[in-house]
Amino acid sequence: MAKIVLTDTSKTRQKQLTVAQLHKRLTPIFNHWVRLRDTYIIKPFVLGETREPGTRWGICISCNRELPYEQLQAGHFVPAHFYYLKYDELNVNAQCQQCNGYRKSNPWGYMLGLAEKYDKSVPYELATRMHWKKQYAVSGLLEMIDIYKGKVGEME
Ligand SMILES: [Zn+2]
Repeated sequence: MAKIVLTDTSKTRQKQLTVAQLHKRLTPIFNHWVRLRDTYIIKPFVLGETREPGTRWGICISCNRELPYEQLQAGHFVPAHFYYLKYDELNVNAQCQQCNGYRKSNPWGYMLGLAEKYDKSVPYELATRMHWKKQYAVSGLLEMIDIYKGKVGEME
């Protein structure tokens, strides 16, 4: 009787992906995790609560507006094209579309928000590391995809 050899085609396929393709896969997973981390679920039966129970809300790091998940983005303090900090958990936080877009990241508000959320040393530390170099390898990106898929799964 012939043996059937099972191969993990998804892993085989992943190994053939380029670094650029893996960034395209990782970015939405990482961004989704940031938005989940920085939002909370409205509980039912809370006196005076007018928002729909079960919906997610969070606060923009740079203007402090409270908004639903759908109106928050994963905004970078040091822009994402500085690769070293592209997936840095301190460097990326929930941010409203206005601050992330029209206000060009609202850097002064973002700096104050980082100081309040983490520590006043964080904006300085991130700015210090912005020009550091990082080469992302296929294996490292695959590992990060797995890690952040797991983190998303824990929070959904
Ligand atoms: Zn904002």
